[in-house]
Amino acid sequence: MDDHLAIVYMTPEVQTTCLTYGLCTEKEETLVLLAGYFGYENFQTIAHVTRSIVTTRKDKSKDRVEVDPEQMSLAMTEADSAGLNLVGWAHSHPHITVNPSHVDLRTQFNMQTLDPRFFGIIVSCFNNDAGTQRFQVTCFQTIETEHGQIERVVPLLIRPANPGLLVTDGLTQVQAIPRQLFKEEAEGFDNRQCGPTTGLAAHLCAGIHTHTLSNLVDKMTGPMLTHLKIRYDTNMKQIEMLDKRRGTRSSI
Ligand SMILES: [Zn+2]
Repeated sequence: MDDHLAIVYMTPEVQTTCLTYGLCTEKEETLVLLAGYFGYENFQTIAHVTRSIVTTRKDKSKDRVEVDPEQMSLAMTEADSAGLNLVGWAHSHPHITVNPSHVDLRTQFNMQTLDPRFFGIIVSCFNNDAGTQRFQVTCFQTIETEHGQIERVVPLLIRPANPGLLVTDGLTQVQAIPRQLFKEEAEGFDNRQCGPTTGLAAHLCAGIHTHTLSNLVDKMTGPMLTHLKIRYDTNMKQIEMLDKRRGTRSSI
């Protein structure tokens, strides 16, 4: 057995969280840490990702995202309490291609020094280079060559953790996204309060904060709730249809 990572299996719930979070903002990169476990299949090292951990971003910008050591440590504790390990990280590339940047390759390389099986995932969104907007996802590791650091693509497969069983905490993982964005806004507001705390400047700060929170409710929480209601109705119709089909079969 070697530590050469051959394939990554990801649950649909984690995939939904990564894509939903990526779609929440087209002006900043988003970051999700991935928890799961490593194993072996046909004498090859494989990774299973079963849980996403949405973290506070240290640097919020369109083409840069940093993994904060403190957040990394908190995520490790969270993963550990669920009997899992941190196995990878995922971030979004709004309006840019899915390929890892030099910074991404370096960050990934540093992660691999802690565990050579650690991997990175990039979700490209809002990118309409081809004339239509589409998602692109890549899974990669970094290898060092005489020409510098380059990407090694790792196959990524989406499949349920327990085939045939419903995952009950699927929504809990998606729920973490609005909670995290509200938390980041609240922390940003508290930091700004270190400046003007009285007078017009303070009112301006409070006004901007209220506007941002309203935007989050209008443009993210509201549509997310609508989407979940539609998904719930669709699921109930499917259950009804399958029940009818089972009834028809058992009466034959
Ligand atoms: Zn990147």
